[in-house]
Amino acid sequence: MSQLISKWNYPTTVRFGAGRIKELPEVLEATGIKNPLFVTDPGLAKLPVVASTLKILDDAKIPYGVFSDVKPNPVDSNLTAGIAVFKQGKHDGVIAFGGGSALDLGKLIAFQAGQTRPIWDFEDIGDWWTRANSDVIAPIIAVPTTAGTGSEVGRAGVITNEATHTKKVIFHPKLLPAIVIADPELSVGMPAFITAGTGMDALAHCLEAYCAPGYHPMADGIAVEGIRLVFENLPKAYANGNDLTARAHMMSAAAMGATAFQKGLGAIHSLSHPIGALYDTHHGMTNAVFMPYVLAFNRGAIEERIVRLANYIGIKGGFDGFAKAILDLRTELKVPHALPGLIKDLDMDDARKELIADMAIVDPTAGGNPVELTKQAALKLLNEAIKG
Ligand code: NAD
Repeated sequence: MSQLISKWNYPTTVRFGAGRIKELPEVLEATGIKNPLFVTDPGLAKLPVVASTLKILDDAKIPYGVFSDVKPNPVDSNLTAGIAVFKQGKHDGVIAFGGGSALDLGKLIAFQAGQTRPIWDFEDIGDWWTRANSDVIAPIIAVPTTAGTGSEVGRAGVITNEATHTKKVIFHPKLLPAIVIADPELSVGMPAFITAGTGMDALAHCLEAYCAPGYHPMADGIAVEGIRLVFENLPKAYANGNDLTARAHMMSAAAMGATAFQKGLGAIHSLSHPIGALYDTHHGMTNAVFMPYVLAFNRGAIEERIVRLANYIGIKGGFDGFAKAILDLRTELKVPHALPGLIKDLDMDDARKELIADMAIVDPTAGGNPVELTKQAALKLLNEAIKG
């Protein structure tokens, strides 16, 4: 019994369903936001999905500002610029609208605008989050347009430190959006590459959470159903972006992944974070490349769990069957089998590999891997992912 001790955090109010973006004015009223800053990324800002959402605000005569200077893998200068716009416009809350990049940056603007300490003081280490003044954190409404990161239901925001080229996870309970509008219609325009990468991100979250050690049966239950949803729906959403049912199930799987990963993540993420920070690769696609190598590496510790999972999803052949299903899914989604397929002209010397391994083992996700991620192990996994 002594091990059956844990801490559970569950997500927030989610208004889920096609067409529910029209409820945005109501949601603003419910959160008490009168003058929101709408945070999105420059690609989305040009698309009809943003124009039609802003029209909802115009029609409801709600004043707002727009900030879209957000890089994929957002950086600290994006945050500084966003905070300046937030303060200048005297905004009282944020509508974070987009994929993980815009969601994270929007959340971090709402969080950081009123703080006096630098953002790096709130990295997800121990109880560093208690350093923040929680009274001045502005309310957040999150509206995902991809289905992968699950940032809309998360208490963290990821941001790259431009000076050190490291991806940092900032954590605070109030980074959790007050209300989420999860409207799968908004994800219909996602290009196939992003559909595949974000979908594999949702899978990576569910899979790593499920395999992480620790007692969290609720997270485990959510993760296995999330994995089932990905296997059944990601190929459909990839093949036909207009399949609204598949898009809806993927949006659920994304939120489920982020809910489950409060239990922990693992070496897929530990390796993917430095690669993303150094090579600016798509986060989910990078996870997808590392997935089979990490799965094989962890086999000794997770075989029994994976067999149970495979049985639940209806995959035959136990661990080997599941590993093959991951490889088949990657092939179907045109995920590169090795890093050179993801990073053009990849030329990593030994010093660069050592640096990546050093960054991987201190990544906060490393502790969640079911087999200890030593530097030697990180180097081995990296070499395997380079060679294929
Ligand atoms: P993204 O937000 O970087 O978006 C990728 C591209 O897709 C962008 O060019 C964007 O304009 C486009 N796009 C988004 N929605 C679209 C739509 N509906 N139609 C057409 N184009 C669309 O990608 P992402 O994978 O959602 O987010 C990745 C980021 O999220 C990374 O920075 C990663 O570190 C972070 N992340 C955060 C968490 C968390 O818990 N907070 C978890 C995982 C990843």
